[in-house]
Amino acid sequence: MARKKPQRTCIGCRHTATKRELIRVVRTPEGRAEVDPTGKQAGRGAYLCANRSCWQRALDRKLLNRALKMTLSDEDAARLRAYAESLPELD
Ligand SMILES: [Zn+2]
Repeated sequence: MARKKPQRTCIGCRHTATKRELIRVVRTPEGRAEVDPTGKQAGRGAYLCANRSCWQRALDRKLLNRALKMTLSDEDAARLRAYAESLPELD
């Protein structure tokens, strides 16, 4: 029998998926928010679909601030927004 995989929730759309299907954003020890492609960086994390609209919603509504318990700097927000631009727009 297949082992149950840990599920995470996208903070943009509340969709639940396995860790592998979502992209992690981590709050670094330096207090920055960045994409964690490995999903293994130490620090508080938040998960988002590989879907541009989820990232834009999270940034527009400051959902990352809440999820990561921090205030994103303009620089971090701009970097995450640029990352979102590289993602496909899905339904
Ligand atoms: Zn999503």
